[in-house]
Amino acid sequence: MAAERDWVVAIHGGAGGITRDAPPTHEVQVRAALAHALLTAGAVLDGGGEAIDAVQAAVVTMEDSPYFNAGRGAVFTADGTNELDASIMRGDDLRAGAVAGVRRIKNPILAARAVLDTSPHVLLAGVGAEQFAAHAGLSMVEPEYFRTEERWQQLERARAKSTELPLAALANPIDHKYGTVGAVALDAKGNLAAATSTGGLTNKRFGRIGDSPIIGAGTYADNASCAVSATGQGEYFIRLAVARTICAEVEFGRKSLADAAKDVIEGRLAMLGGEGGVVAIEASGSVVMVMNTPGMNRGSLARGGEPMVKLFADE
Ligand code: ASP
Repeated sequence: MAAERDWVVAIHGGAGGITRDAPPTHEVQVRAALAHALLTAGAVLDGGGEAIDAVQAAVVTMEDSPYFNAGRGAVFTADGTNELDASIMRGDDLRAGAVAGVRRIKNPILAARAVLDTSPHVLLAGVGAEQFAAHAGLSMVEPEYFRTEERWQQLERARAKSTELPLAALANPIDHKYGTVGAVALDAKGNLAAATSTGGLTNKRFGRIGDSPIIGAGTYADNASCAVSATGQGEYFIRLAVARTICAEVEFGRKSLADAAKDVIEGRLAMLGGEGGVVAIEASGSVVMVMNTPGMNRGSLARGGEPMVKLFADE
C-alpha cells in the first residue's frame, strides 16, 4: 500500500479593498469564518476524504456565511438581484463543473459539483442551471435568502457613484471588499482540486459573468502541475486565463509555483491593469498565496497544523 502523504488546504475569501487603514468591518468574524472553513476542509482530508470534497466543504461554509461575496451575502446586480457563479475541478482526471448567473440555488458550488459528477457538460447557466440543480435534489431558496442589508447599502453607494457610462461600474468595482471565496487542496492520495464561488461585482449588468465559473480563468486543477483559485476583477482573469496560465508555466515552463504565480499576478495581470490574487497548491504540497492588492482574505492548514489566517498583504 502506498504511504499516506500529507494533506494541505488553502482558501481565500476575496481580494481588493482590504487595507490596514480600512480593514473589513467584520474583521473578527471574517477571520473566524476563514478558520472554520479550513477546519471543515481539514476534517474531510484527515478522514481520508478527497481533495474535491474538501474544497467543496470549505466553499459551502463560506457560501453560508454572510461575510463573503458568495451564497448568502452575495453582492447585488444593478437590477437589485443576486446572480451567483461557481466552479469546481478535479486534478486527477480534469473533470470540471460550473454554474453561472444562478439566482435560486442555495449553494452554487454544490450545483457545480453536480454538473461535474452527473452531467456530460462543464458549464450550465441561468434558469437551465437552476432546473438542473432542482432535478439533482439540491436546496433551492427564494432570492431573498441571499440578501443582506450591508450588501444592499453597498449597491446603493455604487449606484450613487456610478456615472452615465453603463459599464463604468465594471471597470471600477466600488466597495469591493469581502469578495469571492475559493479553495484548493491536496489530499493524502496526492490528488489536487480547486473550487471558486462568487456573487460577482456589485452593480454588474447585462448578465455579466466573471472569471469564477470559467475553468482556466478563476479555477483550475491538474495533478501534473497545480490547483488554483482566483479572486479579483474577473475580466482581466478571463483575458489572461490566469489559473490555467499559472499551471502551464509550472508544467511546461518548469517554473516553481511561486515564480509562476508571481509572474502572472504581479507581472502580467498588473501590467494589464488588473487587480486580484490567487491561492494555489502544487503537487508537492507547497502553498502559494499571491496578490497585487493591499490585502486578500486567505488561509491554509496542513496535516497536524493549526489554521493560518491572514488578511493584509504584509501580514
Ligand atoms: N472575480 C470575481 C468576478 O469578477 C469577483 C471577485 O473575485 O470578488 O466576478
